Amino acid sequence: MRGIALLLLALSACGQPAPRTRAPRSEQPAPDAPRAPDAPRASGPAVAGTLTFGAIADCQYADQPDRGARMFRRSPDKLREAVAAIDAARPAFTVHLGDFTDDRWESFDVVAPIYDSLDAPAHHVLGNHEYWVPDERKERVPGRMGIPQRYRDFSENGWRFVILDGNDVSLHAFAAGSDAQTSAREFRASHAPDGGDSCGALGFVQMLWLDTVLAEADAAGESAVVMCHFPLLPADGSALWNAGEVLAILRAHSSVKMYLAGHNHAGGYVEQHGIHFLTLQGMLDTEENAFAAITLTRGEIRVDGHGRVPDRTLAIR
Ligand SMILES: [Zn+2]
Repeated sequence: MRGIALLLLALSACGQPAPRTRAPRSEQPAPDAPRAPDAPRASGPAVAGTLTFGAIADCQYADQPDRGARMFRRSPDKLREAVAAIDAARPAFTVHLGDFTDDRWESFDVVAPIYDSLDAPAHHVLGNHEYWVPDERKERVPGRMGIPQRYRDFSENGWRFVILDGNDVSLHAFAAGSDAQTSAREFRASHAPDGGDSCGALGFVQMLWLDTVLAEADAAGESAVVMCHFPLLPADGSALWNAGEVLAILRAHSSVKMYLAGHNHAGGYVEQHGIHFLTLQGMLDTEENAFAAITLTRGEIRVDGHGRVPDRTLAIR
């Protein structure tokens, strides 16, 4: 019964089923583009090759005065600096891990052109703050950010990248008083009574999809990096409301090597079950910048941190 209830909740919360997706057009090579020499073959097991990608968390721009360590008006300059440094690292793509803006629809107009000027494809993970816009505009947020599907995956050089939507079940992604918001309130009460208002959960349909995608990665011999705005570990107030259930799925798949998150601006790192749980420091906080270029190899993950993000070398199991 609980599974059925969750399924109904997820369907009502999603508003739309998210079918197994193809990579967005920007990620697919042009028909005549030569395939990279070490790209995965169409058949046979993939082998994780070397690949670099850019990573930024919590740019969180808005035209408003500083609030403590949150220096909103500095974010555009920090983002410009990050774009230049990440372009110099020649990554395969860059991902912003959510909370691109703090609030207000017009905030996108300032930072989107900067981020979209990256040489390589620029992806977004949905955070909670993007939804701090009037109720009637909430459904248009993914479209405004150029997000083809709220959760999706793509493969590159033997690596499977899985982008999750932690706002699937949440209080902020839906209009006040809507059925979806009421369902989310009930979900939190049953799963994470102490969970914060600004957090959320993966709905049942997205959980099934995640399990399927990771099973495909396992079978293909790929290694996987899972990305979500909300951390899973450490298990504190910033974690997904259903972190335990998502963690159980990740642990069941040998392909999973890393879980990358934002939301907690202080950043963090935990290694558990052979998976590296890395939370990137938020770009917004302090006068110092924060972003990284992350290089994946068969044997290790190298985090080339900038500003408040420390360098790390993480061994892959
Ligand atoms: Zn957040």
